Amino acid sequence: SLTERLSGVFKKLRGKGRLSEADIKAAMREVRMALLEADVNYKVAKDFCNQVSERAMGQEVMESLTPAQQVVKIVNEELTRLMGGDEPTQLHIKNKGQTVLMMCGLQGNGKTTHAAKLGKYYRKLGRRPLLVACDIYRPAAIDQLRIVGEQAEVPVFEMGTERPELIAQKAMAYAKDHGNDIVIIDTAGRLQIDEALMDELVRIKQTVEVDDTLLVVDAMAGQEAVNVAKTFNEKIGIDGVILTKTDGDTRGGAALSVLAVTGKPIYFQGIGEKLDDLEPFYPSRMAGRILGMGDVLSLIEKAQAVQDDKEAEEAAKRMMANKFDLNDMLAQFAQIKKMGGASALLSMLPGGNQIDPDALDEKALPHIEAIIYSMTPEERAKPSIINPKRKRRIAAGSGQTVEAVNKLLRQYEMMQKLMKQAKRNPKGFMRRFSGL
Ligand code: GDP
Ligand code: MG
Repeated sequence: SLTERLSGVFKKLRGKGRLSEADIKAAMREVRMALLEADVNYKVAKDFCNQVSERAMGQEVMESLTPAQQVVKIVNEELTRLMGGDEPTQLHIKNKGQTVLMMCGLQGNGKTTHAAKLGKYYRKLGRRPLLVACDIYRPAAIDQLRIVGEQAEVPVFEMGTERPELIAQKAMAYAKDHGNDIVIIDTAGRLQIDEALMDELVRIKQTVEVDDTLLVVDAMAGQEAVNVAKTFNEKIGIDGVILTKTDGDTRGGAALSVLAVTGKPIYFQGIGEKLDDLEPFYPSRMAGRILGMGDVLSLIEKAQAVQDDKEAEEAAKRMMANKFDLNDMLAQFAQIKKMGGASALLSMLPGGNQIDPDALDEKALPHIEAIIYSMTPEERAKPSIINPKRKRRIAAGSGQTVEAVNKLLRQYEMMQKLMKQAKRNPKGFMRRFSGL
């Protein structure tokens, strides 16, 4: 995989005091190979490597990072840029009147599922979406939309096997009458691109004013997905992509090439079959995932902003080495606050989404601090000795309940377990990180 190849590359850079031009060249050769293996478009891979080497050579080596880390940092930043920058690109959702989203793409790529996912997503944001059944060729398609619409609690407009453009037009009138402000049109797909399909989509677009033509593509298709995107863009004009089944894709080739090849951003990604499995597409997170290290680099960057480099490195090292105890946890809270809160921090750690951010909620921090302050230094260093009797004492001393003490200890144990898991997993982030 790309992840493995890249970590192999960076391991080779390990221990070098300074990065020579030859080092960078050799590393970039490997990176290019890794990208090509991940099914990244040839030209995209080449341009990418040129970009990275240019930056790597021009830059003076930062004192706080090893040369290998520095290259990883640049690769990470360039990957992010390649996919659209730091923030997700927003759909063109209007605040007044009807916004029309049209799903298009090949059969089985996830149009119907993602029409419903988007419907649910916007309903939860307080909008009133309407799903429109324009896949008229298989009776099962309308049923499927009706079922997922029901699950999403989003109404479905259908007119059986009427012409799709007529259905779309009537749906607009229906939406106006019923106060639906986001109209999501599900369309038919084919196993392959054909003229009839394209014509049909063009006719829908000529009949209703589509704000976002969303191409739904399966991430697992790799380079082929990018070719599909290119063709759809040329034939009907797309505004952006919904990249589906990223839960199954480990290669990342599609995600990396789409923007560079089509000029169109990825708006959302599908991360599973359930209707909640939809996320705005964060290029930085995808870059981190491709590099296999969470958003650890941005974590380091943020840490650097509030601490001096050495201290940050120490804290990170202790965390990575699974050595942090409750004393460390306490010491980190001040930093957590400065770094934008616990949930922000957790979202950056690999596996951090497994931790309930509520349990480390900003509002809960003073309570947690109070509890830890009420422990003896020994208890803080070795939480396993905290028995029920000690718990009652700590609770009383901190003005908290025993349940709150238990909750904190559970949270601490979970974090430790997570660190251990990550360490045990040879392909996991810990090893790679400490191997830099
Ligand atoms: P359509 O033909 O383009 O409308 O595709 P469907 O919406 O019917 O989806 C085809 C299959 O892919 C269904 O079994 C979906 O459950 C599945 N699917 C769609 N999106 C995702 C995703 O993001 N992850 C996973 N694992 N499966 C997905
Ligand atoms: Mg469908």
